Amino acid sequence: MSSRGQDLIRQLAEDHTLSSGELLELLLLLEEERMTEGRGPLAVLLGEEADAVRRQYYGNKVYVRGLIEVSNYCRNDCFYCGIRRNNRDCERYRLTEEEILECCREGYELGFRTFVLQGGEDWNFNDSALYNIIRRIKVNHPGCAVTLSFGERSEESYAALKAAGADRYLLRHETATKTHYEKLHPRAMSFDNRMHCLRVLKKLGYQTGCGIMVGSPGQTPENLMRDLEFIRDFRPEMCGIGPFIPHHATPFADQRAGTLEQTLYLLSMIRLLVPDVLLPATTALGTIHPRGRELGIQAGANVVMPNLSPDGVRKKYELYNNKLSTGQESAQCLADLKARMAAIGYEVVTDRGDVNRR
Ligand code: SAM
Repeated sequence: MSSRGQDLIRQLAEDHTLSSGELLELLLLLEEERMTEGRGPLAVLLGEEADAVRRQYYGNKVYVRGLIEVSNYCRNDCFYCGIRRNNRDCERYRLTEEEILECCREGYELGFRTFVLQGGEDWNFNDSALYNIIRRIKVNHPGCAVTLSFGERSEESYAALKAAGADRYLLRHETATKTHYEKLHPRAMSFDNRMHCLRVLKKLGYQTGCGIMVGSPGQTPENLMRDLEFIRDFRPEMCGIGPFIPHHATPFADQRAGTLEQTLYLLSMIRLLVPDVLLPATTALGTIHPRGRELGIQAGANVVMPNLSPDGVRKKYELYNNKLSTGQESAQCLADLKARMAAIGYEVVTDRGDVNRR
């Protein structure tokens, strides 16, 4: 194992930071190891350090969020995404307010205390529609957290939804490099606005989540270094990362998927850079490997987000090929998820799971 790599990992675990040059050096060493060995000793050491730091903040607890995919209508045309506007094969759906509330009711019964409402940028979910939904969830389930993920909106809109009671907002930055952002998105979308939205969300007091796709087309080690620096400096309360997986009806249909191993070492690095971050082992990670979720938790993640959407629409929220929505991905299989986590020494807990920021 590279002794320089070991030194960098120990330094990262102790100081929770590295210089730009050191971050890049570590990324290159991990990538070199991955290309020859898959998950090698450096990545394992990094994972052990990440697990130890997570235990200091959260013990062996794994938080669950009930994910409700409320609409696959989207005005955007992101090159990677299966629900992009220009995918004519996508069968569109939109849940009604009553359907969303029913998902929450069922989720509450199952033990969920955080509901994540996610959708494409569908302007049918305007401020007043979302305001009513958030209010009603808060009245029906006092003490539960509401997380939103509806993409870029105005400051006024984010403020109105916060006033309605929303607690958290997930908006992946996708990449912290402007030129890379422009390779992943059409001209109508702006890197500067994405970053502006993230700053606004934080300023308004949301627990804010950013994140990236691992192995997205054109992603370089330098891009990842910038992502890690951004995550370290922005100090998000949550950070969603998962492998890029191609979708057959997008311009990136023939691109290669991101890897399990690279996602795992990046999860570990993020845990060490932001020790208290709430870090999900994502559906995409579960999709590329049958034990992806467990391996993600062992590498430093501490959140899972099973799917609470009605059965009839789950297949239609197809962001990438073969996206999981049943089995361990299904909120109805919480007992199975608990057993799988218990088998590797972690305890699924059903409280709100707010950030433990010291
Ligand atoms: N519209 C909201 C937004 O843009 O934040 C929420 C929905 S969007 C589909 C949620 C996330 O899915 C994106 O931030 C992106 O990182 C991820 N995603 C989209 N297409 C993907 C793909 N092909 N592979 C992996 N993740 C993907």
